[in-house]
Amino acid sequence: MASTIQAAAVSHVGKVRSNNQDSAFAGRQLFVVADGMGGHAGGDVASALAVTRIKDADKQPYASPQDAEYALRAALVAANALLSETVFEHPELTGMGTTVSALLRVGDTLAMAHIGDSRIYLWRDDALEQVTSDHTFVQRLVDSGRITAEEALTHPRRSVLMRVLGDVDAHPEIDTSILETRPGDRWLLCSDGLSSYVSEELITKTMAESADPERTADALVKHSLDSGAPDNVTVVVLDVREGTADRPTPPTTVGAAAAPLAFESDSGRRAVRLPNLLLHPLRATTTREAEFEPESDEYLELLIAEDRRRAVRRKITWLVGVILVALGVLIAAVLGYQWTQSRYYVGASDGSVAIYRGVQQGVGPFALSSVYDTTDLEVADLRPYYQSQVEGTISANSLSEARDIVERLQNAAAD
Ligand code: CA
Repeated sequence: MASTIQAAAVSHVGKVRSNNQDSAFAGRQLFVVADGMGGHAGGDVASALAVTRIKDADKQPYASPQDAEYALRAALVAANALLSETVFEHPELTGMGTTVSALLRVGDTLAMAHIGDSRIYLWRDDALEQVTSDHTFVQRLVDSGRITAEEALTHPRRSVLMRVLGDVDAHPEIDTSILETRPGDRWLLCSDGLSSYVSEELITKTMAESADPERTADALVKHSLDSGAPDNVTVVVLDVREGTADRPTPPTTVGAAAAPLAFESDSGRRAVRLPNLLLHPLRATTTREAEFEPESDEYLELLIAEDRRRAVRRKITWLVGVILVALGVLIAAVLGYQWTQSRYYVGASDGSVAIYRGVQQGVGPFALSSVYDTTDLEVADLRPYYQSQVEGTISANSLSEARDIVERLQNAAAD
């Protein structure tokens, strides 16, 4: 059956970032999203170089899906080599890298190539299915059953990537496959600026709202902007339709790859260190910058062990905090009690005038005073004015001041 593709690509810098490090391409048969990383001006170079290099795969027809799959893999490997060469010539770009998720169409099949945490979804029969799997640290934890998919959403290391194209690995591990497609299918390629901030429920709903891929792409980007868009957001929407197109969509390049490549060294650019997390705790950033960790089982174990130590440290910090607060409260209570016991007052006890040690006020059911000394002066022998004074208690700053008060009362009673 003859089928045709209508596609749209949209990229937005977002509301927080100062530059767009995403790139995307929607061609005649090739569709690519790349999300670059590497500081102030390395990520845009990485994704732009990769997309520009991979775009070459749009130029010729492929005899079979296998040919297309091979060509796509070769294009990603070539892009990886290009990034290494570029870093060799521009050492200030050391550490730049990029994700790539790409589809290359041959008839009713799509060759897929993927590395990193950009995603490809298939929307078919009103259901959304994620076709790619994230090459992230948290996805490895989910796959190995160490955490749940829900825990992955809020994991402190959720932006740590295990695989990207860049200057680190000469033989990056790229996922490829051949997917079957049919009229009515709608494919979505997106950077994590969409998938990390817009729920799959809302993506699914948005996919159903309009038959126009351009509108759908715009609506998806708008949802990310509405959620604050802390990251660059890029989407490619492609619809597989019956028949041949009367007006095929012209190839579109968006994001960093759409701008002229400028990577002359500038002062604002900073080299990005690679495995640095073991030495530095995660920075508390509101916009989570993607970080790259080369993938190996030993390294993964190290990261997991470090997470465990961090959890233990957090628990210890919390316990020490609780103990310190409790100690503080206890010391304040002891000092407060000691102070009350330096105070005296004169009052009545069993009808006699007595000197009390402490303060008249108690704390809840606890009295903070006790009779220190009872005199043989009866309250009843005092004149009414002094009687009410004693019953209401008379404060004294010291024991001798209390004794002076008692003496004055005795003198007044004797008069
Ligand atoms: Ca991103």
